[in-house]
Amino acid sequence: MDLNYTDEEIAFRDDVRAFLKAELPASVSDKVKGGKRLTKEDMDSWHAILNKRGWLAENWPVEYGGTGWNAVQQQIFDDETCAAGAPRIVPFGLKMLAPVLIKYGSEEQKKHYLPRILDGSDWWCQGYSEPGAGSDLASLKTRAVRDGDHFIVNGQKTWTTLGQYANKIFCLVRTSTEGKPQEGISFLLIDMDTPGITVRPIILLEGTHEVNEVFFDDVRVPVENLVGEENKGWTYAKYLLTHERTNIANVGANKVSLEHLKHIGRTQKVRGRPLIEDPLFAARLAQIEMELDAMATTNLRLLSSPDSVANAGPMSSMLKIKGTEIRQALNDLTRRALGPYAMPFVSEALETGYNEEPIGPDYAAPVSKDYFNNRKITIYGGSNEIQRGIITKMMMGL
Ligand SMILES: Cc1cc2nc3c(=O)[nH]c(=O)nc-3n(C[C@H](O)[C@H](O)[C@H](O)COP(=O)(O)OP(=O)(O)OC[C@H]3O[C@@H](n4cnc5c(N)ncnc54)[C@H](O)[C@@H]3O)c2cc1C
Repeated sequence: MDLNYTDEEIAFRDDVRAFLKAELPASVSDKVKGGKRLTKEDMDSWHAILNKRGWLAENWPVEYGGTGWNAVQQQIFDDETCAAGAPRIVPFGLKMLAPVLIKYGSEEQKKHYLPRILDGSDWWCQGYSEPGAGSDLASLKTRAVRDGDHFIVNGQKTWTTLGQYANKIFCLVRTSTEGKPQEGISFLLIDMDTPGITVRPIILLEGTHEVNEVFFDDVRVPVENLVGEENKGWTYAKYLLTHERTNIANVGANKVSLEHLKHIGRTQKVRGRPLIEDPLFAARLAQIEMELDAMATTNLRLLSSPDSVANAGPMSSMLKIKGTEIRQALNDLTRRALGPYAMPFVSEALETGYNEEPIGPDYAAPVSKDYFNNRKITIYGGSNEIQRGIITKMMMGL
């Protein structure tokens, strides 16, 4: 097996590098590299730049505006954009809802929504989880009752990531209580400015507003906003989740964090020697690197399979588990590498323009924030315990 890039792949990589050099704003990449907070405008501007170049929808069919890239090109693009400090594209519309619309949406829905996802007219958020329905998602209670050519929606969603910026939410709602709970769920597209919707922030441990509660009080949703068939939403919901989980693997970002950790290992000293020469640190680093290499290969295997993530099922669960465990291991080892410098948390140091003296090396500021914030990643997108259940059931038949 030849793992080297072909001449065409090297040419593609050079093309991506040249584009990043010319188009990625330094003001944004500096923030990403320094672990600083991004604004909505930062995220929107990178989205628009990629769209202008036609490089936004890596995984869509070309007929809808996708890139038509093969697996290696997607991997190269991911590696290069992460290495250059490009922001992660917000996945809800582009990588989660769009595949569902392409496979199950009506022609009108595809025509209307897909171009709006590409040009950034719509910012989507995800209305799956509820206070009593997370891992046991099928027990969701938000009701949608048919009233002529509308559904009337009542209930509550929670943990809605970046919902404060969204003008649209895709929601799982209960349209029937007959039969198995999974058989009475529908998939609705809802305008966030419809009367009766209230968004309330949930503030995270490190003081940031990233997630929300969303309340629905007699919200009227036109029936044409139903995706696919009524009461068949569970099928579409699961299909969306395979895309969500594969995306969480985050191979390129993990590679960048590993390189950063190596840099810290070379810079920090233990008893006068570089930390990277410490056998315990070196062994832990090597373990993470081996796991990351193995995961990158699995990711490539998935991307290059004929129907790719469409039928990923348990493979997307594998990638979700490994990707999140690797990221947490990287966060943990980085925190340990910095010792006492990782302990103080100065929230303002994550804002552009903060000019106090850093505590310890300048890269120490976001370390504890990343460590604590990323406790969530083994939970969201379906917790890792649940993913292990899916793997044992679907791959091992247990
Ligand atoms: C920061 C963050 C952002 C999120 N963003 C969104 C979003 O944008 N939109 C959205 O809809 N949802 C979102 N979620 C919700 C997320 O998908 C759920 O939190 C997740 O599915 C787990 O559900 P739960 O919180 O109800 O935990 P629970 O289901 O209460 O689980 C608690 C613990 O018990 C374990 N457990 C439960 N059942 C089993 C079982 N059968 N076998 C083994 N272990 C089990 C779980 O793995 C977990 O460790 C987000 C969550 C977080 C934390």
